[in-house]
Amino acid sequence: MATTIEVEDTITVGALAERLMLPASKLIAELMKNGVMATVNERIDFETAQIIAEELGLDVKFKERETETGSPKRVKLKASAGAVQRPPVVAVMGHVDHGKTSLLDAIRGSKVASNEAGGITQHISAYQVEHSGRAITFLDTPGHEAFAAVREHGAQLTDIVVLVVAADDGVKPQTIEAIRYARKAGVKIVVALSKIDKEDADPNKVKQQLAEEKLLVEEWGGDTVVQEVSAKTGKGLNELLDMILLIADVEDLKADIDVPATGLIVEAHVEVGRGPVARVLVESGILKPGQFIVAGSTYAKIRNLEASKTAPLKEAGPSTPVTITGFKALPEFGDEFYVVNNEREAREKAALAARESYQTSNQGITSSELLRIINRSNELSELNIIVKADVQGSLTSVIDSLKSLDTEEVAVRVVGSGIGAISENDLRLSMASGAQIYGFNVSCSSAVRQQASRDRINLHLYNVIYELIDDVKKELEQLLAPKVVETEIGTLIVKGIFNTTKTSVICGGEVTKGKLTIPSFARIEREGKELMEAEVTNLKRGPTDVKEIMEHEMCGVSLKVPAKIELQLGDRLILFTREVQERHL
Ligand code: GDP
Repeated sequence: MATTIEVEDTITVGALAERLMLPASKLIAELMKNGVMATVNERIDFETAQIIAEELGLDVKFKERETETGSPKRVKLKASAGAVQRPPVVAVMGHVDHGKTSLLDAIRGSKVASNEAGGITQHISAYQVEHSGRAITFLDTPGHEAFAAVREHGAQLTDIVVLVVAADDGVKPQTIEAIRYARKAGVKIVVALSKIDKEDADPNKVKQQLAEEKLLVEEWGGDTVVQEVSAKTGKGLNELLDMILLIADVEDLKADIDVPATGLIVEAHVEVGRGPVARVLVESGILKPGQFIVAGSTYAKIRNLEASKTAPLKEAGPSTPVTITGFKALPEFGDEFYVVNNEREAREKAALAARESYQTSNQGITSSELLRIINRSNELSELNIIVKADVQGSLTSVIDSLKSLDTEEVAVRVVGSGIGAISENDLRLSMASGAQIYGFNVSCSSAVRQQASRDRINLHLYNVIYELIDDVKKELEQLLAPKVVETEIGTLIVKGIFNTTKTSVICGGEVTKGKLTIPSFARIEREGKELMEAEVTNLKRGPTDVKEIMEHEMCGVSLKVPAKIELQLGDRLILFTREVQERHL
């Protein structure tokens, strides 16, 4: 009997291969035979998918999956009868500067679940708060792309979007974008009307604007919950959390716990002494230390399972954010994880995923890839760029030349490349990754150019390759940490202390080596140990201010200190100058 597989109107080659239970390479080869050049991540349409499966002689029936347009319908977790209630997972979205971070901080500051108390000062990408004795999980996502990735992974993890709209600023482009994302995903929106403490807050105007975006507030006969809040005064925060729990109850959020645990990696980094550390959100099942989990092309035997650094856990159920150690390599943000039976299986699954991993291409890029790029772009030493060229040959030589600029400190990261004119897709990728776009022998339509300038995207076009390379080199040089050169100039032995305040010291002494000049800095040493570093603000020979004191002379020195210090006779001041030098590649 033929198997039926569901395919959206487009599907990535990788996803189709998975559904057809074929190696991606085989599918790619078959596509090539049919004249379709596509990498694992590129999307092909429904018809192509159908034709290829037929060519491969696979007995597969295709069913077109309903697209997400029209009335949004959230696909609920397929929980069985034995499923249990789980905390809601909430993402906070909204226009920049409307107070998302402040709101999250305010909620977190007052409401952090007791077992997470150790983590307050750390930035955590997912955490739980307690309200009315119940848990709420917040996803502190960098932006819409993160949210999209969460959705895309089918993890169905976000249940509610808190849409932050500043009461003094109203609905802005990113507000509208957030509404669109939430709608597309079929996720409930709760509006947090923020900064309500401000004098020019105008809630009615904002409600009017929301109505224009088809979010009609309850008091006007709609069903949109709007809560006025102030991160500054704390007003409305409890009510907002009440609303979230109320919606969670209506949505009847459940998950299975008697299945192998699955979930999503929401953050990953390396810690000295602990190795790769991942923050994950459990979707279903119960995660426990000692289990083997696979995430993308790496796996872990879970060594530590923690709510925070100070709170080891014996297990973590659905909607719980936890930190895991024990990964062989750093998992990727946005990867799904799943528990397997043993190490052999974990190793095999991870190796298979590694083989099928792909090259980033600017075609059909998925938001989870974007997310990975965004996440990496935090590393200051990398210059994210997108390269477009007229033909493959020139593209390769541009990229190769750019790669040759890499040093240990700075490197070019090509987040996307391709042949042909600069497209809107390039702009999107640029927006998401912060990459500058470099085009060689390609054009750019005026519409794209205008869009780029509206979005303040750096877009550069060249016909001469070395001009392109030179410009990238200059950008890279900007990324080089400036070199700070310290030169010791002289030493003074303290023979008198005249005045000490919290921020300054005036002392006198003899120059035993070199000479003292200002401006300069001083390391204060006692018995060979450095106590602190200070700034030399004045030099005096007798009662006279001077710029320079020579060896063997007696003098007075005024210091600006970062904290109060009681100098002692015999302490040494090692004076030095500090110069910041620009660097070149
Ligand atoms: P984000 O970009 O949306 O994360 O916004 P932030 O949380 O960084 O806030 C942007 C600015 O608004 C900051 O200067 C905050 O101090 C200020 N702000 C945030 N919430 C409030 C609030 O409730 N009241 C007032 N008066 N200012 C706020």
